[in-house]
Parts: sequence; C-alpha cells; structure tokens
Amino acid sequence: MSEKRIYLSSPHMGGGEQKYIQEAFDTNWIAPLGKNVDELENICAKFVGKGYGAATVSGTSAIHLALKLCGLSEGDTVICSDFTFMGSCDGVMYEKATPVFVGSEKDTLNMSPEHLDSALKAAKKKGKLPKAIIIVDLYGTAADYDKLLPVADSYGVPVIEDAAEAFGGSYKGKKLGGFGKYSILSFNGNKIITASGGGMLLTGDKADADKAKFWSTQSREKAVWYEHREVGYNYRLSNICAGIARGQMEVLEKRVAQKKAIHARYAEAFKSSALHIFMPPRGDSNYWLSVGVIDKSSKVKFTDIIDALAARNIESRPLWKPMHLQPLFAGCEYYGDGLEEDAFSRGICLPSDTKMTEEEQMRVIETVKGALGE
Ligand SMILES: *Cc1c(COP(=O)(O)O)cnc(C)c1O
Repeated sequence: MSEKRIYLSSPHMGGGEQKYIQEAFDTNWIAPLGKNVDELENICAKFVGKGYGAATVSGTSAIHLALKLCGLSEGDTVICSDFTFMGSCDGVMYEKATPVFVGSEKDTLNMSPEHLDSALKAAKKKGKLPKAIIIVDLYGTAADYDKLLPVADSYGVPVIEDAAEAFGGSYKGKKLGGFGKYSILSFNGNKIITASGGGMLLTGDKADADKAKFWSTQSREKAVWYEHREVGYNYRLSNICAGIARGQMEVLEKRVAQKKAIHARYAEAFKSSALHIFMPPRGDSNYWLSVGVIDKSSKVKFTDIIDALAARNIESRPLWKPMHLQPLFAGCEYYGDGLEEDAFSRGICLPSDTKMTEEEQMRVIETVKGALGE
C-alpha cells in the first residue's frame, strides 16, 4: 500500500462553511447573488481596508475587470510581473492588448522597481504609456510598494495589485490587497482559503465596484426588459461558493499561522543544506507556499527532488515559469536580468498544506534530503 498522499496546498475547511451553505439552501438563494455574496464582499473589503468588493468566479476574471476599469482596449499595453502564474496576464490577452514583462528584484523575486522604471521610461520615449501595471505579491510576500508605487505614480499609470497568493499577509501594518488602485484576491482551491473557486475585485471607489458588478452580470441596463449597451460577462460568484469562502474567512488568520509554522520547520531543517529556503524579507508573508532553491554548486536538479517526492506520494511543484519564456509571449518585451529564470531553473515549491502533520512534514524533509544526498 502506498503512503498517504501529502498535498502542496489543498482546501482545508474550518467547520463554519456548511452553516452558510445551509442558509443559502434554506432561503433557496442557489444563485450568483444573495446574502453570502454580499457578506463576503463586506468582510473581505473590511479585512483588507479597501472599501468595496465585487465577488467573481475567479481571480483571473477579477483581473480582467480591473483592467477594464483602467480603460484597457485593443492595441494597448500593460506592464505585468514576469515571475507569476498565467492568471495574472490572461486579462490582457482577452482585450487583445500586449503585455510588457518586468523582471524580479533579488530578495523576494517580486517585481523590481528599477526594471519597472526602465520599462516605463522606454514606453514614455515611444510615446505610449501602459494602461496599467499588474504587480504580484509572489508566494505570499509583499512587493516593494515603497518604491514601486512612486515610480508608477510618477508616470501616472494605475497599479493593479494581484494578491491572489498573498491574502492574509501584510506590509507595514497594511493588509496585502490594500496597495493597488484595484486589487484582486483568488479563492481557488489551492490558495490559502478557498470558495472551491472564486475571486474578488477590491477598490476604494463605490462607482468602480458597481461598474464591475454590472459588467459581471452581463451588462444588463436598468430596464424592465433586457437592455444592453455594452459587452458583458457572466463573472459573478455563486451564493453557494461565497458561503464556503465566508466560512473560510473565520480561519484565515489561523491558516496564516499554520503556514508560518510549516515554513519555520523547513527553514530549521534545511539550515545547513544545499536547499536554501527562501526567507520572505519584507513585511508579514502569509507563507502560502514554502519555496526552496538548490545551491548552484549542487548537481541535483529540481526535477530529481520532485521525482523523489512523487515516489513517496508527495506533491511538489516547480516555481512559476517566467512569462517571457512562455511560447504564448514569444516576442513580447522583457525588462530584467534573468533572476527569475535562474530561480525557475533551481527552485521547488515544497508541500505547504495546512492539513499536513509534523510527522508528514518530516517525511517530506527526509525525502528531500535523501534526494540531495544529505
Ligand atoms: C491563482 C492566481 C491567479 C488566478 O486566480 P484564479 O482564481 O485561479 O483565477 C492570479 N494570479 C496569481 C499570481 C495567482 O497565483
């Protein structure tokens, strides 16, 4: 018999979810509307300190709406973090616009302020500034907003904060998701809390939140009949899924503490190893995924570790493949010095599942050390 499966980051219910689902059943609000959706928007907006929320079917669709609020249309450009998941960039493609990729800073692998400035300087020279800058809080850790926001401001370009991986984290007393003109969250199954699938747009402006809700309910005009002046989307979160996320909000802080403890155990175990555990040096990370990077001098490849873990029924993943290396984006501009490409070639996301026991984490650690020959 094979050993019990250990997951990278799987849904972890807190117990309160079913009460909200039951409420939706009892009132027959089995729809993309209802009390759970309204409450979830209020709770998340309040938690982040951002004013207004619009719940969506995914983080990807929330980014699409944020881009539309920035006035994005065909032929425009958008600056994107290079080291991220594809969901960060899909919205740019939906609008037939062009992404310009900005590479990473050394310490967190988040977007580099210097490279952002270079990209904006070049755009200005060409006489065509981007419509938005999408900044990711990678693996749960804040980007360098002290430097990034003034650069963006100096060119008058709005920032969309992609906090899909970072919900529950903070920087200088402000919750992540609180830094962009628009911010987005994800409630996908692998994120720190889940709705089984879902997302949210956050904004300080009620009119923007209302516009996002309008677009995400098929752009239906206020009329007795079905009247449409604009293209719409079916992007609203279901009241059932919102019930799950509402219950999950009750355990968000607890999950952050559990992820932090998992990270601390890896950091301790690999203190003098060829696997360097990535230490989030900025603010309070939510420690969504613990990441290790293999020392340059080691002959062991990240795929060797993934294979060794898989042989013991343990899930792990490579780091994100940089966007400028994706076939879809061949020929797109990239401003950076290859730091993310280097990290991708040597990095691994370790199991960071909050249901993982300490004994199970020991099995992970032993297996990784074995693969490293330690
Ligand atoms: C997960 C993720 C998204 C997309 O969220 P979905 O809810 O899966 O659409 C966007 N950006 C980043 C950085 C992510 O990790």
